[in-house]
Amino acid sequence: MADVISKKVKRNFDATAGETFDIIVIGGGIIGAGIARDATLRGFRTLLVEKEDFAYGTTSRSSRLIHGGLRYLKRLELGLVRQDLREREILLHIAPHLVHLLAFVIPISNARPLQRAALPFGLMLYDLLFYGKSLPSHKRLSRSETLELEPELERKGLVGSYLYYDCQSPFVERLCLDNVLAAAEHGATALNHAKVVGLLRNSNGVSGVKVQDVTSGENYEVKAKIVINATGHWVDSLREMLGKSASTMIRRTKGIHLLTPQISRNAIVLFALADNRLFFVIPWQGYSLIGTTDTDYSGDLDTVEAEKEDVNYLLKEVRRIFPDIDSQKIFYASAGLRALARSSSRNPSDVSRSHKLVDHEREDGTRGFISVLGGKITAYRAVAEQAVDLVCKKLGSQSPCTTDQVPLPGAPSVSKQIIEKAANQRGITVETVTHLTALYGSRFTEVLELLKQNPRGAQLLCPHSLDILAQVQHAVQYEGALTVEDFLLRRSALGLGPCLGLDALDHIADEMGALLNWNQNERQKQIDLYRARSGGRLRFASGLQS
Ligand SMILES: Cc1cc2nc3c(=O)[nH]c(=O)nc-3n(C[C@H](O)[C@H](O)[C@H](O)COP(=O)(O)OP(=O)(O)OC[C@H]3O[C@@H](n4cnc5c(N)ncnc54)[C@H](O)[C@@H]3O)c2cc1C
Repeated sequence: MADVISKKVKRNFDATAGETFDIIVIGGGIIGAGIARDATLRGFRTLLVEKEDFAYGTTSRSSRLIHGGLRYLKRLELGLVRQDLREREILLHIAPHLVHLLAFVIPISNARPLQRAALPFGLMLYDLLFYGKSLPSHKRLSRSETLELEPELERKGLVGSYLYYDCQSPFVERLCLDNVLAAAEHGATALNHAKVVGLLRNSNGVSGVKVQDVTSGENYEVKAKIVINATGHWVDSLREMLGKSASTMIRRTKGIHLLTPQISRNAIVLFALADNRLFFVIPWQGYSLIGTTDTDYSGDLDTVEAEKEDVNYLLKEVRRIFPDIDSQKIFYASAGLRALARSSSRNPSDVSRSHKLVDHEREDGTRGFISVLGGKITAYRAVAEQAVDLVCKKLGSQSPCTTDQVPLPGAPSVSKQIIEKAANQRGITVETVTHLTALYGSRFTEVLELLKQNPRGAQLLCPHSLDILAQVQHAVQYEGALTVEDFLLRRSALGLGPCLGLDALDHIADEMGALLNWNQNERQKQIDLYRARSGGRLRFASGLQS
């Protein structure tokens, strides 16, 4: 199996350019990866190209929740919520190693009577919308029960809370990667650091892409019957390659998160006093992830950062409910962009999170080109299914979708007994093996297998994380990691922790350099780029500067 994976993810642009594909998917975020997996399982010859790395875009900057979205009930988007609750259930089934139950507490205070009146109705609807769900139903908790669960909550005005359940995918980057690996193992070609720089045209449509191998700068032409533009908030830039001066199809809004020391045991739902928006304090790997915001964005698409106003907004609102939060202790602030299908709503938070498929043949007569607008992580599989259904219609295929049944590569999740046995056998701690199973699911054994050739691989990479050296080799040989950033942010958990992996950066550059034959210049370039990109996340690291 191991050889198969490494072979499939291996880059061979010359061979790729010689092939004609049924489908080229542009964009290796969760939506593009999901489409590539679905298309391949239905027997289509598929190419996935990603300009940076799988999950580099919005997918890795999300709140990491797999949820129906309580907030969408307020706008009565019942269809969207029902779809997402169904998808939540499917993901628990096909990706139990990466999607877990998470308890949410909504504190109720006597200061907001309207909200108190609306909540029981909303939560009942949330329970009823997906009949047959496996998650427990919501509960009303008294004041003392609430404080027992969450002792740090502001006591003044607190009258109780509601407890309900949704899901979390702590390493959503790996959910994306699992889709890429599944596609590759079923025959797709998946290329990261492969940027589409032009669309190939024929008389009445699109016949392929011009793709650049970003590592060498070389361009290649690849042909396909259908090209799918799944580039998230970059969707317009691909459409511009058609040579039409078209108006934008999406509205971009920015959302930020703060990583802080852990302030709650469960996820806490808060309603901002400033604008009544719902946001979360989410437990994540022993820390708290606080977010998000929702503001219109018109800046550079690749350098999105939190601004002082964003940080200020979150801290001010969180402090009302967690008065003891230390605003000088922010480890980092990350930012991402939503690509929302355009609507007439004025307020960004009122724009629907529902996705839209644009068949350009129907839209403007361009055959062979489809764009995907929007689409939450939670619904990625359903969005992919609809996109591939459309391709089937165009190519005259009857092949059914099976992605709701076929488990993702790292499924199922691993039992405690197996973890303990593996830890004993390899002489490493149960905590480390548990961490590996949280990232790789049942494929943690691939990482441990590498210790046979190289026992040094059991070394921890950094005092702030349980990631081990063998993961570097695994990422390069099995999972297509090409840069230190690929490894730190999207293969391991190292770059997501409080030190951003900076403490282990030189070590990782040495190890990757040895595997990928970097010279001294390349090694230094990798380090400098990672440091430079981390700078944006660290701007508020020692609290809010006035
Ligand atoms: C702050 C925030 C919090 C969120 N929280 C949640 C949540 O908790 N749960 C949830 O379900 N959803 C959440 N979302 C929404 C969700 O994250 C996104 O809708 C989803 O990740 C979009 O995936 P995507 O694949 O469409 O886009 P992306 O992940 O952005 O992927 C697009 C990819 O296309 C690539 N690309 C662009 N141009 C080219 C090119 N020319 N050639 C090749 N590749 C190219 C990019 O590099 C990128 O990797 C959140 C969004 C934000 C902003």
